[in-house]
Amino acid sequence: MKILVINCGSSSLKYQLINMEDESVLCKGLVERIGIEGSKLTHKINGEKYVVEEEMKDHKKALKLVLDQILDKDHGAIKDLKEISAVGHRVVHGGESFNDSVVVDKKVMAAIKECISLAPLHNPANIMGIEAIEELMPGVKNVAVFDTAFHQTMPKENYLYAIPYEYYEKYSIRRYGFHGTSHNFVSKRAAEILGKTREDLRIVTCHLGNGSSMAAIDHGKVVDTSMGLTPLEGVCMGTRSGDMDPAIIPFLMEKENLTASDINNILNKKSGVLAISGVSSDFRDIEEQQDSNERCKIALTQFANRVRKYIGSYATLMNGVDVIVFTAGVGENSASMRSEILSKLEFLGIKVDEDKNNVRGEETIISTEDSKVVAMVIPTNEELMIARDTERLTK
Ligand code: ADP
Repeated sequence: MKILVINCGSSSLKYQLINMEDESVLCKGLVERIGIEGSKLTHKINGEKYVVEEEMKDHKKALKLVLDQILDKDHGAIKDLKEISAVGHRVVHGGESFNDSVVVDKKVMAAIKECISLAPLHNPANIMGIEAIEELMPGVKNVAVFDTAFHQTMPKENYLYAIPYEYYEKYSIRRYGFHGTSHNFVSKRAAEILGKTREDLRIVTCHLGNGSSMAAIDHGKVVDTSMGLTPLEGVCMGTRSGDMDPAIIPFLMEKENLTASDINNILNKKSGVLAISGVSSDFRDIEEQQDSNERCKIALTQFANRVRKYIGSYATLMNGVDVIVFTAGVGENSASMRSEILSKLEFLGIKVDEDKNNVRGEETIISTEDSKVVAMVIPTNEELMIARDTERLTK
C-alpha cells in the first residue's frame, strides 16, 4: 500500500509518498511561494534533487505539479496514480469535533470549515489541499489527521481557562494543544523501546523546535499540554512569547497605540528567544554566541528554565514521571540544551549520562542505568504517523 502525505501551509506545501510495506519514503518534496511570484517545487528521490520553477497560483496548481513529479518517467516514483491507495492530510485544528483521525466526507469537511475561526492561518490551507486532491484524484480516500486530536483526552479542569464560562460556550475558547501527532508518535515509540505500553507509563514529551510544546501523558492519555487555544501559549519559542501576564496586552496596546493585529504579530513573530537574544530565532545562532553575548545566554537559560518548570508541574499533575522524551529540532539536536534542562531535575530522580547525551537525531536513552526516570531522545516523524493513520482508516 502506498500513501501520499500532504502538509499544506498558507503558501507552502510538503509531501511524502510512503510505501507502507516497509514504511520507506519513495519520494518527497516541498513547494514554496504558492500564490506568490517565484513559486518553486523541490522534489527529492534517491538522494537526487529536481527543481521546478513555474507559476503556481494556488494549491491545486501546486499539487498538480507535485503529482506530475511523482509520475515523472525519469525522476518519479510510480507509473500510475492508482498505485496511491489513499492520501493523508495534516489538518491543524479539529476543535472539539475530532479525537482521532478521520476519513474525509462532506460532514467532516463542514466540521473542519467550522474550525477556521480557531486557526485562521492554517485550516483554510489544509482545506485547499483536500479539495485539490478531490479534484485531481477523484475517488481516492482522503484522511484528515489533526494536530489537536491526541490532546482531546484532557479533562475539563485542565482545558478550561478561568475566564467567564460563556466564552467557552459562545466561542469554544479553551486549551486545545498542538503538535499532537508528534507527541503521539514519540510517546508510543518511547513505550515500545522500553518494552512497555503507554498505559503503563507517565510520560512528559518535550517537542522543542521553532515552535515548542510539552505534553503530560498519564497512562496513555494526555492530561495537559502547554499550547492553548492557539500555538502561542506555553514555553517561549523561536519568535513566540509563550506564557506571560495577559495584562501586558492591554497595557502595551494603550502605551504603544497598537491594534489587536499589531500585538498578535509582536507576540507571535517578534518575541521569544529572538527578542531576548536580539540575535536570531535559530537556537544554533544563539548557542554559538552564548559565551560572548549575555543576552544569548539569558535567552537559552530562560528557555531551559521554562521547559524545566513544565516538566516539574507535569510530574506533580501525574504524581510522578517515568519517562521524559525530547524531540524536534532543538530536542533532537542540542545536547547542551537537554543537559541544562535536566541538570536541576535530580530531585525527581533524573540522572543524565553525558556521554550518551552527546547525540544528534538518533533514538537514544540519555539517562544513566540507575536513573529513576528514563530520559530519551526520539526523532519525531509526523509524516509517518499521518501515513499510519491513513492506512489504518482506509485499509
Ligand atoms: P519547526 O517548528 O519549524 O518544525 P524544527 O523542529 O525543525 O522546527 O526545529 C528548528 C529549530 O531547531 C531551530 O531553531 C534550529 O536552530 C534548531 N536546531 C536544529 N539543529 C540544532 C542543533 N544542532 N543545535 C541546536 N539547535 C538546533
